[in-house]
Amino acid sequence: VTTLLDGMSLVDHHCHGIVAQDLDRAQFEGLLTEAEAGGRWHGTLFDTQVGMAVRRFCAPVLGLAAHASADEYLARRLELGHDEVARRLLSRTDISDFLVDTGLTPELVTSPDELARYAGARGRQIVRLERVAEDVIQESSGSSFADEFGGRLTALAADAVGLKSIAAYRVGLDLSADRPEIREVDRAARRCAADVAAGSRVRLCEDILIRHGIWTAIDIGLPLQFHVGYGDRDANLTRCDPLLLTPLLRATATSGVPIMLLHNYPFHRQAGYLAQVFDHVFVDVGLALHNVGTRAGTVLAELLELAPFGSVLFSTDGYGLPELFHVNAALFRHALDAVLRAGIEEDAWSAYDAERLAAMICAGNARRVYRLGA
Ligand SMILES: [Zn+2]
Repeated sequence: VTTLLDGMSLVDHHCHGIVAQDLDRAQFEGLLTEAEAGGRWHGTLFDTQVGMAVRRFCAPVLGLAAHASADEYLARRLELGHDEVARRLLSRTDISDFLVDTGLTPELVTSPDELARYAGARGRQIVRLERVAEDVIQESSGSSFADEFGGRLTALAADAVGLKSIAAYRVGLDLSADRPEIREVDRAARRCAADVAAGSRVRLCEDILIRHGIWTAIDIGLPLQFHVGYGDRDANLTRCDPLLLTPLLRATATSGVPIMLLHNYPFHRQAGYLAQVFDHVFVDVGLALHNVGTRAGTVLAELLELAPFGSVLFSTDGYGLPELFHVNAALFRHALDAVLRAGIEEDAWSAYDAERLAAMICAGNARRVYRLGA
């Protein structure tokens, strides 16, 4: 089937590494959705939109018939070995650049370069603010947290194309737009360090430290990603609506720093609104697309109701399994082609414009915002 997107490579502006080892069924299912595997009531997590999509899209790449059973699929995966599976699945995504959040379990997954090598692509780094702050607190030398954090983040940013906050997971997105005072920041960091010294696991969950991280990132000036909406059950979704970010978006509107709202589902329409009214806001529905499977076209179409075409990016949010990248890229290509083709049929836009918009959303917008070069 020819599509408008044939020959267009993709920039995946938010993903993670994969687990480079052979996986048993429980391990595979544990990485398949945002749920934990082995639940008593759900049954197999293959009986989900994403599980069905893996059997449909990935089985043929491993030399099986489409819709091969989960057992056949997992057996074939072991037979080929994880390296060959990753190479086949990732090289067929036609992703040219992987922008990898290196702050989530880096000890368990591949580095940006290792991930990109499977696809003959380029790996780039996105630095997670909360992880850096936690490292600084853990290794605290007793001097000013703000100074140490600023120095460390600036150094890391030199090798990165963007920064990321997981405020949504820690305090929610209902953040005050004020820049906190350094004295208060250092005091909060000392409280946190004392907890760690008393034996707690370091986990940045003070609003003031999170906001300090965000403003430090704004000063550095790289595009700043926010986790929004859909995620695992660590996130309290009632506090992940992107509209909660409105005060912060107003406060940063003239900063010149692009704000990248990731995932967004089920608040993708709200995110589309924000992308329309704020020039510096960019959006995607990455994680959602492989999870909603057959509904990917609808979700993408809803994002594109209000979001300017120049503000929408592609991402997989792949983590752990190369399958997630593969399925996501396939569903995204199909969904975007369907939305743009429907517009041509309705004479809403010309075929020329449809192709131009596709190129922007697949890669052009990301190249421009993250300054990736050609
Ligand atoms: Zn992610």
